[in-house]
Amino acid sequence: MTAYLLERAWLPSSDGGRFCDDVLVEVEDGRFTSVTPDADPPRAIPVRGLVVPGLANTHSHAFHRALRGRTQRERGTFWTWRDQMYDVAARLDPDTYLALARATYREMAAAGITCVGEFHYLHHQPDGSRYADPNEMGQALVHAAREAGLRITLLDTLYLSSGFGAAPEGAQVRYSDGSVEAWIDRVSGLEARFARTSATEKLGAAVHSVRAVPATDLAAVAAWVGDRPFHVHLSEQVAENDACREAYGVTPTRLLADHGLLRRSTSLVHATHLTEDDVALIGGAGAFASFCPTTERDLGDGIGPSRQLHDAGARLTLGSDSHAVIDPFEEMRALELDERLATRQRGHWSAPELLTAATVDGHASLGWDDAGSIAVGQRADLVVVDPASPRTAGAGRDEGAVVFAAAAEDVQRVMADGRWIVEEGQRYDIGLELEQAVARTWGEAR
Ligand SMILES: [Zn+2]
Repeated sequence: MTAYLLERAWLPSSDGGRFCDDVLVEVEDGRFTSVTPDADPPRAIPVRGLVVPGLANTHSHAFHRALRGRTQRERGTFWTWRDQMYDVAARLDPDTYLALARATYREMAAAGITCVGEFHYLHHQPDGSRYADPNEMGQALVHAAREAGLRITLLDTLYLSSGFGAAPEGAQVRYSDGSVEAWIDRVSGLEARFARTSATEKLGAAVHSVRAVPATDLAAVAAWVGDRPFHVHLSEQVAENDACREAYGVTPTRLLADHGLLRRSTSLVHATHLTEDDVALIGGAGAFASFCPTTERDLGDGIGPSRQLHDAGARLTLGSDSHAVIDPFEEMRALELDERLATRQRGHWSAPELLTAATVDGHASLGWDDAGSIAVGQRADLVVVDPASPRTAGAGRDEGAVVFAAAAEDVQRVMADGRWIVEEGQRYDIGLELEQAVARTWGEAR
């Protein structure tokens, strides 16, 4: 057992959470065994700074990290960005993917992220054939997370068609298993292996989008998913809604609901362009809405109705998606700031609500009900934020400072499952590793 005295830590309370001083936490086998505010213990390791629970990144495509700074330069649309993304997708093999994902996950860990939901669809060889181990790419991601020290929920993603009824083409052939039965067969093999590994890896399922899976296959997906975490890209683009209506006569949300895939354990990624009926359906299900504000702004997607969804009963979570930015603090405040731009009014989201989205609800949407709070029995995750950096100095020592002033660079140390996975002074090494991994992905000489 190890005892730490946290100078000031965010603990759960009836209204979401509050900061308390001198919090003694005892950690054993990766979990908190006691949490005591206002303590004065004779012996405990001091941890100075503002301490928050581990942050969950609910939507990641690790390989998109290779696009940062490259795709932002030009004009275009979501669809021209997608062509550049396919260029990276066509290049990766299990070795380069492991290196790129490990470096990307290290960047996440250094930003305070202790759990990632990896929306994984890059399954097969460039010609679409399976690797000798058909789950080699998924295993590379799991190993990458293990080496970076954070938990992973691998959301193995079904992708069968390029558009409504169109066959996969180009890099998309790497995504497709050919049929829903073949996908179930492959992911079942992966799950058998997960069961034998540690308690820091979990398998979830995803449907890429209603574009990518015919409606006739959704019932089979729903049957296999059961109570596993289930994620799906939803209504990120108006064009997707229009095409869905043309193909099926309903919105993507209604289509999922009609096929048993809108449940409490469902996460709807983006949920940007919704009708009032969609919002009511999602809220009524108590589903998660995974917003990715820094990606949505980068791609020009639009601003989703985050507060309406929350008020209807949905639980909001946050993801860095394309990794144009990896900064969960920026994602938290963007939920509020984007609402301000859309409504020309301030004060839609409180800082405790945003911290809840990034911690408890984010973890729950990835299947980790035992993470995201500094509380007895929970996984021992700690994120130490510097309250005296050039950004945070003078901003106060509460949720407002964490959510509206801090940035990823202010994270000093990170503990996941009782183990310090990030220590001060590692940023240079992480940058170097990222530079090498991205250059290798693009085949650039250094
Ligand atoms: Zn995505």
